[in-house]
Amino acid sequence: MLLHGPFLLYLTSLLKRFAFPTTIFVIAITMSYWQPMWLVNWSKQLPYITYGALAAMILLSAQFGRARLIYLALLSGVVLFCATTSDFLYLDALTTCAWLLTVILMWRPEKGIMPTNLFLNFACLAGFGFILFLGLDHFAGALNNLLIGFYPLLYHLGPTASQAFSPLECALLIVCLLMALGRVLWLPDNNHIALFFGLLVLVTLPFQGQSNDAMLPFIGLSLISITAVIIDSFNMAFRDELTGIPSRRALMQYVQGMGKRYTVVMGDVDHFKKFNDTYGHDVGDQVLKLVASKLSQISGGGKAFRYGGEEFTLIFPRKESTEAIAFVDAIRETLASYPMVIRDKNRPDKAPKKKSGGTPVSNHKTVHITCSFGVAHRTADFTEFADIMKQADLALYDAKKAGRNCVKIAKSV
Ligand code: GH3
Ligand code: MG
Ligand code: MG
Repeated sequence: MLLHGPFLLYLTSLLKRFAFPTTIFVIAITMSYWQPMWLVNWSKQLPYITYGALAAMILLSAQFGRARLIYLALLSGVVLFCATTSDFLYLDALTTCAWLLTVILMWRPEKGIMPTNLFLNFACLAGFGFILFLGLDHFAGALNNLLIGFYPLLYHLGPTASQAFSPLECALLIVCLLMALGRVLWLPDNNHIALFFGLLVLVTLPFQGQSNDAMLPFIGLSLISITAVIIDSFNMAFRDELTGIPSRRALMQYVQGMGKRYTVVMGDVDHFKKFNDTYGHDVGDQVLKLVASKLSQISGGGKAFRYGGEEFTLIFPRKESTEAIAFVDAIRETLASYPMVIRDKNRPDKAPKKKSGGTPVSNHKTVHITCSFGVAHRTADFTEFADIMKQADLALYDAKKAGRNCVKIAKSV
């Protein structure tokens, strides 16, 4: 029962977003342990590749205003440098400090890369990191004694874990992982997922020793972050921000690659202005999201786009109007019969308590949203996409005139 509706959507989008970074992370970790022969040959070049990849991560993040990914790359670079090139005495404190800072980055809002913001945030993080570093180093002995109970757990996890982590590090690691996991499940966007993998990569460092193979997961991290930034900027350009479905720009690109046989459907929410006036713009937005999510489930090979406002476009490749109309009518029916539960702004915010024996009074109301559709396809007279869309628009106008909540085929077909 839980695997239903919004929860299922959340789960599938989570799996989709985690698939690529998890694959990269697993490949990088496996290779750094397994050390294939070709990698051993590349070992000398690894530092150039790794720091190059981290630099690319900084440049791209700067280009797209991702300050937190810049800090993560800088932090990773410093920790990696200390771990691999010198006998840095305080590596444990530095690594633990890096975990904590990464979690702080995850929980802080993105402030962008305005020079003052960037500098102030950087100064705050560096200052806090330094205090943390000194504190961790200074109090490590006393805190480890306090957390003596973790020793059996570490021994239980195996010799590597007990060598890699002290009880204090183990306790902080558990806190960091839980906080990071909480944040990434709460806000599972590509940016937070990249930061989450940043933490995982930093956690693997104590297991790796001083060899250059420790760098591989950091190349993986750069790849994950760069991909996150690219996917986000692609989505920004081609996905509609409110509904998450492809935007008008995506539609224009999509039709360029289409053959000659296709059907264009223009859809429009009925009496939406009145709906907005009655329930408010925010509820209107929720309705648009719902309409978009229903329309994108269209069958018959159709693809849904938000054209703008409360107007949507459906494209059916390799279909004529008469073939597509059944699918359009089915989705119209689905929408019209869907009971939409909304909070009525005219009723009190808190539902009044149920009187003994009476029915509970709710401040929620169920409404039904309807849409009208106009359908057209390519004919000898109308060969360009813009012209076919115009015909579909005229058919939509007919549907409105015919009383709304119906589908009309263009006169031209
Ligand atoms: P009709 O049945 O003839 O289509 O009537 P209508 O009221 O739906 O049509 P009209 O074009 O007069 O109004 C469209 C309304 O859609 C006006 C605007 O306030 C609303 N709208 C456009 N974009 C958005 C949006 O992103 N969010 C919300 N909440 N409302 C929007
Ligand atoms: Mg309209
Ligand atoms: Mg409308």
